[in-house]
Amino acid sequence: MKKLLIALDYDGTYTEDTKLWDAFIALATRAGHRVICCMMRYEDTEGDEVKDLLRGKVERIFFAGRKNKIEALGTHEIFPDIWIDDAPHWIFDDAI
Ligand SMILES: [Mg+2]
Repeated sequence: MKKLLIALDYDGTYTEDTKLWDAFIALATRAGHRVICCMMRYEDTEGDEVKDLLRGKVERIFFAGRKNKIEALGTHEIFPDIWIDDAPHWIFDDAI
């Protein structure tokens, strides 16, 4: 089975049922997959709450800073197999 890299959104996704997504992250990780969190937020002004909630759960947290997520992750050579996102247009579109 292919080991997947799963990009989970925060606002409107993880936030909507943190217990559900915590269980998902734990299950996916136990199955050998990798889960990262990628969101449109700015790290410096909007990141503390996210880090407090997700540090130690997901492999890494990425703050796209209102840029489209696919490029934001691409600059780190990170290319998710699966995106979980309530507003998937932000994967491809900038918000500024
Ligand atoms: Mg969202």
